[in-house]
Amino acid sequence: MTHTKHPSAPPVRAYVGLGANLGDAEASLHQAIEQLACLPHIEFVRVSPLYSSAPVDASGPDYINAVAEILTSLDAHELLSVLQRIEHLHGRQRPYRNAPRTLDLDLLLYGDQDIDTPDLRVPHPRMHERAFVLRPLADLDSTLMLAQGGLHDLIEACADQALHRIN
Ligand code: AMP
Repeated sequence: MTHTKHPSAPPVRAYVGLGANLGDAEASLHQAIEQLACLPHIEFVRVSPLYSSAPVDASGPDYINAVAEILTSLDAHELLSVLQRIEHLHGRQRPYRNAPRTLDLDLLLYGDQDIDTPDLRVPHPRMHERAFVLRPLADLDSTLMLAQGGLHDLIEACADQALHRIN
């Protein structure tokens, strides 16, 4: 893979959502964080507490979820492609939409950029309505604002979604 971003450009703060509900989901999340942290052009990784959540629009056992904050000089599409490579390393298959998954990595935010391409939409189009994204995101930075509102209000709006902090 090539890394085409100008090396002199300041790194961008991005947020990545992690989820898994097959196999040892907690171990998969820890490994994925380590794999992210080891990648070239990813300078910093900070991870939220872990949560467990009932599947939303999906099937199978409960999910383990977290959000990672990273600083990176990869551009957004390069970052998506390394996230997909890590998913692949964890044996991610897509037999059908929203199938249970060994590891799901979503690019939630990439700086303050709005991206709308066929393979990448940022901010992630469903993040504002998912407690399992909003709560760990707020643990990392409760002052973040999304187009739909502040994290506190958005979290209140999805208070009906069962979510438990596990560490
Ligand atoms: P999923 O099966 O939910 O992991 O969705 C993966 C598909 O969503 C891939 O084809 C990606 O190209 C596409 N996609 C669009 N926007 C994003 C995003 N912000 N983060 C991750 N995948 C995305």
